[in-house]
Amino acid sequence: MTPDAMKALVRTIPDFPKPGILFRDITTLIGHGEGFAASVALLAERAAEAGAQAIAGLEARGFIFGAGVAARLGLPFIPVRKPGKLPVPVLAIDYALEYGTDTLEVDPGAVAQGHKVVIVDDLIATGGTACAALTLLRRAGAVVDEALFVIDLPDLGGAERLRTEGVTVRPIMD
Ligand code: 5GP
Repeated sequence: MTPDAMKALVRTIPDFPKPGILFRDITTLIGHGEGFAASVALLAERAAEAGAQAIAGLEARGFIFGAGVAARLGLPFIPVRKPGKLPVPVLAIDYALEYGTDTLEVDPGAVAQGHKVVIVDDLIATGGTACAALTLLRRAGAVVDEALFVIDLPDLGGAERLRTEGVTVRPIMD
């Protein structure tokens, strides 16, 4: 399946979660067996090319794709979690949202020192989430220079932000 065919499986919902936002909803992509398999296969091919030794998925939709990629490649999966979910002492980072802040957490024991970790999420917009995950994973001892997304919203500048941090960004579609 081509990236254009995968793109046709993503629906756009106006005014979600707030008025004026056009939400790109991947529910319809993962609800299509062939589309889901093709998107995971393409992300896995790119992660393998990047020499991934582990895959970090960003909660929650990054878990769907990231876990698929990790299992397909036989690599460890590192969940980058929302706060308060992990039952062990965590490394945490706060990051700015449009209004307020949010936090991401990782189990430092899940990150092998010096291993090459590839970030996977469904979508990059402003890049706030992915940049926070990048900082967290680097602090935990990972080498991170590749991030994979199903969707990039290039006008919001997130991919460019990651690139200035030395990360190659490869989305399937915009
Ligand atoms: P950013 O931090 O880059 O501004 O936003 C990206 C994060 O918010 C990702 O974790 C992504 O799941 C979520 N997100 C923001 N906008 C959308 C959207 O339109 N569709 C989907 N599926 N996720 C979004």
